[in-house]
Amino acid sequence: MPTTGVLDEQQVLLSTLPPSRGQTRLALAIVLVLLAAFCATVPFATVPLPYVREFIPAYATAMFVINSITSALLFVQFSLVRSRALLAISGGYLFSTLMTIPWALTFPDLFEQTEIASTTWGLLSTLWHLGFALFVIAYTLLKDNESPTQWLRRSLPFAVLSSAAGVVIVDALVWLVTTTNASMPTTFALFERSYTYWNGLLLLAFLALALLWARRRSVLDLWLMVVMCGLLIELCLIFLVGRRYVVGWYASRVFFLISSTLVLAILLSETAFLYARLARSVMAESREREARLMTMDVLSASIAHEMNQPLASIVTNVDAAARWMGRPAPDLDEVKASLAQIRNSAYRARDLIGSIRAMVKRDGRNRTPLDLNELVREVLALTERELQRGRISVELRLHEHLPPVKADRVQLQQVLINLITNAIEAMRETKQPRVLQVKSALQEPNRVLISVADSGPGIDSAIVDRIFNPLFTTKSNGMGMGLAICRSIIEGHDGRLWAAAAAQSGAVFEFALPADVA
Ligand code: ADP
Repeated sequence: MPTTGVLDEQQVLLSTLPPSRGQTRLALAIVLVLLAAFCATVPFATVPLPYVREFIPAYATAMFVINSITSALLFVQFSLVRSRALLAISGGYLFSTLMTIPWALTFPDLFEQTEIASTTWGLLSTLWHLGFALFVIAYTLLKDNESPTQWLRRSLPFAVLSSAAGVVIVDALVWLVTTTNASMPTTFALFERSYTYWNGLLLLAFLALALLWARRRSVLDLWLMVVMCGLLIELCLIFLVGRRYVVGWYASRVFFLISSTLVLAILLSETAFLYARLARSVMAESREREARLMTMDVLSASIAHEMNQPLASIVTNVDAAARWMGRPAPDLDEVKASLAQIRNSAYRARDLIGSIRAMVKRDGRNRTPLDLNELVREVLALTERELQRGRISVELRLHEHLPPVKADRVQLQQVLINLITNAIEAMRETKQPRVLQVKSALQEPNRVLISVADSGPGIDSAIVDRIFNPLFTTKSNGMGMGLAICRSIIEGHDGRLWAAAAAQSGAVFEFALPADVA
């Protein structure tokens, strides 16, 4: 099965699914049991038994039900793949189903014991078996050279009706032949007792079995072989006993009934099993699709979120430059500084896109040994304007001999910018002194720890478990992507990011990364 859990057509159709070892063994066991039962019956085959009036109607009803369900099952398969072979075999079962009606109704001892009734019944029996074997042969010959035909694709009702019409025509012909041809009863009675008749019938059934064996591929082929074995055993027994109401005559029908019932039961259970597999596969597919959509959502939200900061900085600097230019005595140095900031922000935006792509691809090529203290200073410089605007004082406590970490510079910059931006936003409404504290420390064994603390309102304990979830936000204009991206970056670097308990008011976010000891 594919690792995705999604199935293809070959794995869900009885007509294409290859049989498992267990199924082959089960089929073989059934055939062996049938053969053993046949051999056990042969010595007593001609022992007379009383005439049971209900036997033929009961047998015919059972065969009608079994064959109609099998036929429906196969028509469903046909409606899925529109193969001529499946049409042939489902048509064969439909033919078998419908033939049981006239066959039972013309049974000589049931209504009247006339020669015509006997001939009609004999002819119908022959045509029933002959027809079924021919349909199986047609199925076998057609199944390996399928070319999708237009008419098959168009109309299922047409296919079903034409199969049924074929049966009605056969019945009508039998009726015509037996009622209009006066010498028919005698001719047929002689023929029915001849070796040519039996050899022909048995040969045809055997041919169907041999063809199925030679071209066996699917679960359906396997179980059709079991049915054909049942049919052959039935024909052999009838041929051996040559008359009604003896052990062999009853047993032949019972054997065929048993094999047909078993095959139907197995085909039904196979179908139910395949349905369950298909249902699981559909669910897996929809989960995969959802996950893909979610990833797309998260990805587009990440891009939007990350681009906001450099774009906002560009706008602020453009406004600032415009103000410096608009003064009666334009301050060109300030304008130059703003332009430099704009250029830096544009470069940052470009790097961010590259880094998001690297993150999605889990690409570690941009990792170099980094001094996190230096990176902290760099990010504080980048966010200087926002810090000033928020009237926030910065407290730096950096460990002097911090070992480097092997990391993607742009991605770690992103983490720090996100944490500092969150801290600035958190302190926006604070009445107390606004302090941003950034610390670096060495954690044993060989881990570098960075902590970003603010003096804002802190994190509500009710949401602390969810703040790292993608798209979770408590801000009216928030995206809920910042912390999710930070965690994904830090974990991508074999590190850990968490919200620590603050000593006083405010929130503390900490991350630890493995030091680059090499
Ligand atoms: P956003 O900032 O777009 O809401 P984040 O993933 O960065 O998305 O943050 C998720 C949530 O975590 C925020 O909406 C906020 O409720 C909470 N949060 C993050 N940082 C802080 C902080 N420094 N102080 C208080 N709450 C915070």
